[in-house]
Amino acid sequence: MRRDDRCVLALERALGASKVDDSDERRAQLSRDESETDCVLPRAVVIARESADVREALRVCEEHGVAVVPRGAGTGRTGGAAVVVDSIVLDTTALCDVKDIDRDDNIVIVEPGVVTGALHAAVEREGLFFPPDPQSAAWCTIGGNVAENAGGPRAHRYGVTRDYVLGMRAVTMSGAELTLGRRTPKGVTGYDLTSLMVGSEGTLAVFTELWLRVIPKPATVRTLLATFASITDAGRAVTAIVRKGIFARCIELLDSYCCDAIRDAAPSALPPNASVALLIEIDGDPEDCDARCERAGETLTNHGAIDVFAAQHEGERERLWSARSVLSRALRARARFKLSEDIVVPRSKLAAMLDDVRAIAEREQIAMPTYGHAGDGNLHVNLLWSDPSLRPAVDRAVRALFERTIAHGGTLSGEHGIGVLKRDWMHLEQSPAVLDAQRAIKRALDPRGLLNPHKVLPAPGHRGC
Ligand SMILES: Cc1cc2nc3c(=O)[nH]c(=O)nc-3n(C[C@H](O)[C@H](O)[C@H](O)COP(=O)(O)OP(=O)(O)OC[C@H]3O[C@@H](n4cnc5c(N)ncnc54)[C@H](O)[C@@H]3O)c2cc1C
Repeated sequence: MRRDDRCVLALERALGASKVDDSDERRAQLSRDESETDCVLPRAVVIARESADVREALRVCEEHGVAVVPRGAGTGRTGGAAVVVDSIVLDTTALCDVKDIDRDDNIVIVEPGVVTGALHAAVEREGLFFPPDPQSAAWCTIGGNVAENAGGPRAHRYGVTRDYVLGMRAVTMSGAELTLGRRTPKGVTGYDLTSLMVGSEGTLAVFTELWLRVIPKPATVRTLLATFASITDAGRAVTAIVRKGIFARCIELLDSYCCDAIRDAAPSALPPNASVALLIEIDGDPEDCDARCERAGETLTNHGAIDVFAAQHEGERERLWSARSVLSRALRARARFKLSEDIVVPRSKLAAMLDDVRAIAEREQIAMPTYGHAGDGNLHVNLLWSDPSLRPAVDRAVRALFERTIAHGGTLSGEHGIGVLKRDWMHLEQSPAVLDAQRAIKRALDPRGLLNPHKVLPAPGHRGC
């Protein structure tokens, strides 16, 4: 950092030196997220400890024409919090107060830096439930979840983060402090700017307070693991479970590469015969839960399951889920490079899309382990390679993956967002007019384009990669 950096000095004056960290270590740590986006070092990190710090940091940076990257825990998969141009990082993790849990109105008021797992625990102590459950819940923040419209396994029954955001306080780059939405279950006053903010990936405003809807905690949860000989059988079984109206709360798929990687990382997490597996959860009142589990077991067996294992107690349930939670890191350990895609296809196209993934992997000779929220048609297709000369084959595989996804009527991202990594593929799914409409919204809220620049929207005129 240049010691005469006027913006950093102005930030220190406005906020106090303790809230501005320009150490090499901190700048390097907060320059990247959990994607493999190429990053540059930020000028400094601002640690917001109260909402006024967010307003002041944005004001100073706007005045100096310096870009700002809002940041939660940095677990994003597409480079949303990665620093890609000269910027200040605005760290919101110290804004971590659960301000109110209102059991009469089933509303929780939180600051954006609350860790999602801590939010789950806080509301569950009160007999309430916040369903969105990204697999990173132990580390990620609710602000990052709202900015990415995060999902998770339970989205199959309960929907995604957007379905639980009633309102918020947010600050735009030009300094407007917006109070958006409502605290009531219903409300249609004016344009729905709350929904616009959800999934905006830190490009429209920085959240300082979130008003979230919660629901009563389900009384019982049952967990099943079904094993299959082929991924096509598993894909068909998913469609059958949904068609039978069993209302599972999640249906998670693990392909054979993933099952092998899990066995390497956690040998007891999966039965030895699990070549392809579905992890299914059913919740509700105990009697109803048991009846639906029974029907799910029959349906799975009738659709090619080799074995259906029902967890008998919490320890077994945790063991089954440990398979899912070690997976991302187990795959990362298998190759020097990893790209993690997050496509969604209509559920009826799941088996066809899985066949497409296998065909692309064979054609390009790239390992493409696939897992994810199969109940929603949301597949995390990973590309693993160690030899840098394979990069052109990886790029061809990604293009083919996205083209097949769109051909099936699907979408590029189910929950990880667009960030930097998918930005230049947006034209495959959205028309120039739709992209221009989004650019106009961005200009209205951030005329100088300083809030999280180069994220989500491709440059005008960009039509391919
Ligand atoms: C192992 C692993 C498993 C994962 N599993 C899932 C999963 O199941 N489902 C899922 O949806 N995602 C998953 N993710 C992705 C990631 O955890 C989510 O995208 C999460 O929402 C990011 O939260 P974060 O606090 O880390 O945000 P960051 O990565 O810090 O930021 C993400 C985006 O939010 C913006 N942002 C952060 N805070 C604010 C704020 N206060 N105001 C405005 N914008 C803000 C940033 O600018 C950035 O664009 C996983 C990631 C990992 C590493």
